[in-house]
Order: sequence, then structure tokens, then C-alpha cells
Amino acid sequence: MSESISVLISEEQIQKRVKEIAAQINEEYAGKSVTLLCTLKGAVYFTCELSKHLKVPTFLEFIQASSYSGTESTGTITMKLDVKPEAVCGKHVIIVEDVIDTGVTLYHVKKLIAGRNPASLKVCTLLDKHDCRRVAFEGDYVGFTIGDEFVVGFGLDVDQRYRNLAYVGVLHQE
Ligand code: 5GP
Ligand code: MG
Repeated sequence: MSESISVLISEEQIQKRVKEIAAQINEEYAGKSVTLLCTLKGAVYFTCELSKHLKVPTFLEFIQASSYSGTESTGTITMKLDVKPEAVCGKHVIIVEDVIDTGVTLYHVKKLIAGRNPASLKVCTLLDKHDCRRVAFEGDYVGFTIGDEFVVGFGLDVDQRYRNLAYVGVLHQE
């Protein structure tokens, strides 16, 4: 089986959009500090790039969640890596995600973090497959809305490969 990748969102487009989102966060969080809660592993590249352009005091925390669809429409998640409650309690937290697809993962993650009493809680995602939702969920900051296609690069993988691409591409398997 051969694989090829076609560019969907170029490195330049990503860099431009990341700067725009950072500018919006800088404005909205002026005078505050922000805690970026990066969802491993996919959001690592996006989180790092975004953080470089933030001018407000910025803290980094990490979580890793696995979602299981199961038979229920809302599925469930297990936390492979959790964040300490005190790292989010009373903080202005922005959950940073690579892609929102069905919405199941972030629906549960957001509920979990909200239960730890952050001062505020928002969600920033690089990609949004908005037509693929199984649970109602909206990101507060969205990089790009894309269709129902499997993408890799800029953190996104297939079997742990291709995360290190500087662009987002569509994977073709023949
Ligand atoms: P959700 O719970 O919203 O359905 O799924 C979100 C997770 O599914 C993402 O964080 C990502 O790990 C994975 N995912 C969804 N769509 C894609 C895709 O097109 N490419 C890759 N590499 N992962 C995806
Ligand atoms: Mg993810």
C-alpha cells in the first residue's frame, strides 16, 4: 500500500492564522495571565507556536485523554495524563486542541476541567470538523474549519507518524 499527502493548509497559512489568534488572546486577556492546557500529543506544535506570540504571562500544562465512542452518543474518556487541580483552579485556562471532530473528547475534558473551578475556561483548536459533531460543542478560538477528511501534520498523526510536518495535509492511502 502506498501513501501520499496533499497539502491542505500550508505552513504560511498556519503561521498567519496562529498570529491572528494570539493577537486576539493578547487583547482579550490583557492584564491577566493565561494557562494553556495542551492536549497531548496532537496539540503540541500548535500550543508551542501559539505561545510564542502571546504577550500576556503564559503558563503551560498538559493533559492526555483517550476517547471511546462505545454505543452511547456521548461516549466517554479516560485520562492517560491529568493536570493537578491547583494548576487550573483560579486560573484563566485555555484548552488547546489539534482538531475537534465528533466533539466527544472536548465535551468531557471541558466538563472535567470546569469542575476544578478555573477563573475562566475557553477552548482553542487548530482545526474544526464542524459537520462531524455527535455532541454539541463549540470552540472559542478556531484556526480553520475543514471537511470530513483525515488530516496529518503540525502535530496530527496516523499511527504516530507525520506529526512533524510543518503543514496540515490530507492522507491518501492506495
Ligand atoms: P473527537 O472526540 O472530537 O471526535 O476527536 C478528537 C480527536 O480525534 C482529536 O484530538 C484527534 O486526536 C483525533 N482526530 C480526529 N480527526 C482527526 C484527523 O483527521 N486526523 C488525526 N490525525 N486525528 C484526528
Ligand atoms: Mg487530540
